[in-house]
Amino acid sequence: VLEVRNVKKVFGDNVILRGIDLDVQKGNVIVILGPSGSGKTTFLRCLNLLEKPDEGSMVLNGREYNLKNVKNKEKLEIRRNTSFVFQNYNLFVNKTVLSNVTLGLTVGRHMKKEEAEKIGKELLDKVGLAGKYDYYPAQLSGGMQQRVGIARAMAANPEVILFDEPTSALDPELVGEVLNVMKQFAKQGVTMIVVTHEMQFAREVASQVIFMADGVVVEKGTPEEIFDHPKEEATRKFLKRIL
Ligand code: ATP
Repeated sequence: VLEVRNVKKVFGDNVILRGIDLDVQKGNVIVILGPSGSGKTTFLRCLNLLEKPDEGSMVLNGREYNLKNVKNKEKLEIRRNTSFVFQNYNLFVNKTVLSNVTLGLTVGRHMKKEEAEKIGKELLDKVGLAGKYDYYPAQLSGGMQQRVGIARAMAANPEVILFDEPTSALDPELVGEVLNVMKQFAKQGVTMIVVTHEMQFAREVASQVIFMADGVVVEKGTPEEIFDHPKEEATRKFLKRIL
């Protein structure tokens, strides 16, 4: 469903991404690990064009894009098929929970309000927020807000959902509920790329784990390969520090 080639990104004098490749099959859960500053978030943002890559191409849903030079129409197509779940939720604070989920459908896709609300309510029920449709984000815990963020990402029915450290802003007791929602969608075959430090989640759910450092993919493999038999010294060092 997604083939990414040679993504490069420079900020000023700093080369952040040095040519990243990634292949994602439908239903895969890709977990990206790596030390702080290795470029994980930047890579995810490049996939969704929240950052403009300096180099790179992508085949998404059978269509090829030159990421350095995307036309506006192509940008919309890419955005539509790669929903983003943010570390800090990025909800509209002055919109209800339900509006947060449906807005992309009614405004972005000109769907009828009733139709969008039906989809929105179904998704909110799935993430355990039935009965909270009319709440505002500030009335919810961080875990609930992030579950709204996930419902919103799902509403677009994208080819792949990009999760940028979705639980790292949460109090520890709220992490589990968000990971559980992600696991549930993973089981249903939702394709995901997840930047996270949650190793247990990676072990249980990942089809492939990618270890990044200094803007390159150092090593990739199944969770067993990466966690139990890492080949590269850099991977071993990183795992030793965090496990
Ligand atoms: P973390 O786990 O801390 O989020 P990361 O692996 O996701 O780390 P990135 O957030 O992608 O790393 O950042 C990689 C590097 O790029 C950092 O050194 C950061 O300072 C730099 N960087 C990120 N965004 C920008 C920007 N908009 N302008 C300049 N430098 C940036």
